[in-house]
Amino acid sequence: MPLELIVISLMRTSKWINVLMLNTPEEDFGQLQSRRIDVSSDGIRWIERDFEQFTPLGKFFEINTNPEAGITVDKETSNATALKLRLVRINDAALEQETVNVGIEKLQLLLNESMACALHCTNCYNELVAERCFSSIRPVPVPTMEPLKYFSSKKRMTTAMDEGELYYAINYIVISPQSLGKGVLQCGGNIHCARCLQLVGESLGESLGEKLAAQLYVDTLWMAPGAQTGLPEGRLEKLFGQVTVSQLMLHLLQSAVPISDEKTRVFLKTVRPDGQLHYMLLLVDTNPLHMLRSKLSLIEDLNISSSPKDSDYDADASLTSNSDSSIESIVENSSDSDSDSDSDFTTDDSGPRAKRRRCGRRYESKPVHEVKVRGYRGCRLIYYMFSTDEELTANTKLIEQWRKEGTPMLRISYMMMMDLLRELTVNELLVATMERLIPNEKEGRVSYIIFEPDEDN
Ligand SMILES: [Zn+2]
Repeated sequence: MPLELIVISLMRTSKWINVLMLNTPEEDFGQLQSRRIDVSSDGIRWIERDFEQFTPLGKFFEINTNPEAGITVDKETSNATALKLRLVRINDAALEQETVNVGIEKLQLLLNESMACALHCTNCYNELVAERCFSSIRPVPVPTMEPLKYFSSKKRMTTAMDEGELYYAINYIVISPQSLGKGVLQCGGNIHCARCLQLVGESLGESLGEKLAAQLYVDTLWMAPGAQTGLPEGRLEKLFGQVTVSQLMLHLLQSAVPISDEKTRVFLKTVRPDGQLHYMLLLVDTNPLHMLRSKLSLIEDLNISSSPKDSDYDADASLTSNSDSSIESIVENSSDSDSDSDSDFTTDDSGPRAKRRRCGRRYESKPVHEVKVRGYRGCRLIYYMFSTDEELTANTKLIEQWRKEGTPMLRISYMMMMDLLRELTVNELLVATMERLIPNEKEGRVSYIIFEPDEDN
């Protein structure tokens, strides 16, 4: 079966790469026996009986092809091959050049300074802030998961916020307590909806008995646009546009408090619509992660059927009848020029670590399809997800330790947490195969977040 996807990860502080190659599960034993994977200093060849797929990596790194020190294959199944390759050299400039840069984007706030709006409780639609205009709408000046530190610090604010001011950050706004209507109930530092008692925010600081600012969680609010806003009257809207997982993670990392030179923590909380509390704890490696990834289905470029029954096709005829655009990706077999130092291993040997020198096939001529990879930045992390009362109780010790050690907790929306969890779960499977990890629930789950540009989502 042809190679369908290749993913390569490297921590920029390491001198080795993890490679994962996926293909459709092999049913035909003869086909499996004829497949070989060759690693040379400039790339990786996936060799089938009738063609080759070559992933050139020479411009990014020089792979150490000494079979004793450089190459390990410790995981191979019928549809996945994982390799660990040691590098002689990394070309940082080339890697940077071919990498997608994804920066932090501003949150899309639906509200603007010329719009009047009221704020309602998401649970019971009770009006919490009567219709009004906010004349000064700004992002929170310092990215922070703890607005209390910024908004109630004596240096920053000794008088209450102006009524027209509104600050915003990931999933919260800060407004003047004077804007809160009769629809809220304040109890200690907490602000509840007076009708359904949903917790909608908290008070920030107090001076001479006067509350200085009120933080409201965006996921507990509906915005009701006033007349002449251009938006349909009477309709309830979300305050922020959707935030992608990449953007969410970039915003969270910007506000995270590092615990050492190599690790930073992010403590997230959410409340499911039925009231169930969820905690997600992320221990993020601050060393940058780099990914190189091919497109998702390389098989499309080969213009051949993935059905094993069709494997007896005339490969050359099939490939040369390709459309003009795909002919460009077919180049003459370049394995003739391989140096003798190149090593390779075959998939038909008895042990997964088996390697042997190529012979005999060297002068065969097969069409070679070049596999292009694109670079992404990301982060590697360990995560814990506690989503039931039992899980929360069983992990009280860890939760308390993080709180005690000063890790700020940020409430995000339920949808944000589910998006994040979905991404982490999918990547966790990939990472486990790629890095040859044995899952250990107690130690947390290892995953990646890859920073992808919006057009890829
Ligand atoms: Zn309510």
